[in-house]
Amino acid sequence: MTETALYLETIEPELRVITRLFSLPETVWDSPARFVPRVEDAEGRYRITFSDGGLTASRTADIPGDPDPRLQALHRKRAVRRLCKQTLYDLCRQMTGIHPPWGSLTGVRPTHLMLEALGEGLSPEAAVERLARDFDVTREKALLLAEVAGRQRLLPPPGDRYMDVYIGIPFCTTRCAYCSFSSGELGDGRLVAPYMEALRREMTACAALLKACGRELRALYVGGGTPTALPLPAFRELLSLIRSCFPGAGEYTVEAGRPDTLSREKLRAIREAEISRISINPQTMNDRTLAVIGRAHTAGQVREAYALAREEGIPHINMDVIAGLPGETERDFDRTMEEAAALHPESLTVHTLAIKRSSRMSLEKAPLPDGRMTSAMVDAGQRTARALGMSPYYLYRQKYMAGNLENIGYALPGHDCLYNVDIMEETSHILAMGAGGISKRIWPEEGHITRAPNVSDIETYIRRVDDMIRRKEALFSEDGTNGTGGNPG
Ligand code: SF4
Repeated sequence: MTETALYLETIEPELRVITRLFSLPETVWDSPARFVPRVEDAEGRYRITFSDGGLTASRTADIPGDPDPRLQALHRKRAVRRLCKQTLYDLCRQMTGIHPPWGSLTGVRPTHLMLEALGEGLSPEAAVERLARDFDVTREKALLLAEVAGRQRLLPPPGDRYMDVYIGIPFCTTRCAYCSFSSGELGDGRLVAPYMEALRREMTACAALLKACGRELRALYVGGGTPTALPLPAFRELLSLIRSCFPGAGEYTVEAGRPDTLSREKLRAIREAEISRISINPQTMNDRTLAVIGRAHTAGQVREAYALAREEGIPHINMDVIAGLPGETERDFDRTMEEAAALHPESLTVHTLAIKRSSRMSLEKAPLPDGRMTSAMVDAGQRTARALGMSPYYLYRQKYMAGNLENIGYALPGHDCLYNVDIMEETSHILAMGAGGISKRIWPEEGHITRAPNVSDIETYIRRVDDMIRRKEALFSEDGTNGTGGNPG
């Protein structure tokens, strides 16, 4: 078997993703031979052809040359991969007549391509044209990308001398039906004290590591789980550890997603710790839907938590909502948007429901709004954000999203969350602590990333915290040995 044929075998999962863009049933793969491309490999040029029945799609691409054989092999792989996906996409468009909003793009970070085009000196209009031509992205989505990329270029640029910090608190009061995170329910709270003990150890060691690598702290983010689900004494201890271990960040965010986990005391502690941004996430302001998705709080509690946060002087409140929740209509989503607008958050993140395999909703096969309706909800989210004076500043996609849509973060001018941009664009080193945190080291010159994942299971994390510390020390050592792309062990 030739090198190209061998490589083609490895991209079959990505080809399956392409057929899913057109809602083609998995049964189309019962005879996978129909999607085996014909590859013509001339010196420096590939031609790929896919056929099905009487239909044929074909594309050709040049492979950029490189004197380094390792980089040349990489260019070849990328060229074949991209060409196969685009050609199969062309064939599926012919088969179904469907035009997916993001065209043949299936990656998580479509902004990369726009930034790449702008970085080459293309005007935004020319970059929009390129995305529409090369990937069949609709003009509306390409313009959205140009707006996001334009805004990101105004932010303080990340660089090798900076590092972001992530701290994971993997506890929630109950489990949402769509949740695919590895967080655990708080239950009787017996794991809180040992978890905080392990975290203290890891945060102290990471503070020393940050100093030893001579990098400056850029943004700090506490996520999970729901950090505010911690009982008050443990939550205060967390904030005090953050201030003592990681002073001087330009931005501090604490996820306070569930309004039922907030109290005046916790909000006061947040303000006293000079946390600049929190997130209170209704997801929907429809009590019936909140019950269906297992949130165990009401819309009224969202309003109360907001009022309390404002009274306590929290400077930046973000709000997350989800389009496409089970049983919701466009009218339900509009009501959520009206209520969101009335609360005047500084930023608004409009997610599209993604049903991951590990979520309860996936198991229960809940009835969901169709792609057209979800798309109308996403548009309503955009209209509300713009009416509030916000613009989009980060955007990402996930697998299995309703209508093959996207998640978009909107913010008022001067309220972009740097950490959100860094994590989505993978442009900054990340030092991650806590169960499930993934540390990343960016190698800008080589164009790759190495990772050191912490284990996700809470009890294993508590037992093996010293291993987690050693992984990070190795990752950020001079040569970055032991950084992995693999799964937590
Ligand atoms: S609040 Fe977030 S982490 Fe917690 S169960 Fe819900 S989706 Fe999962």
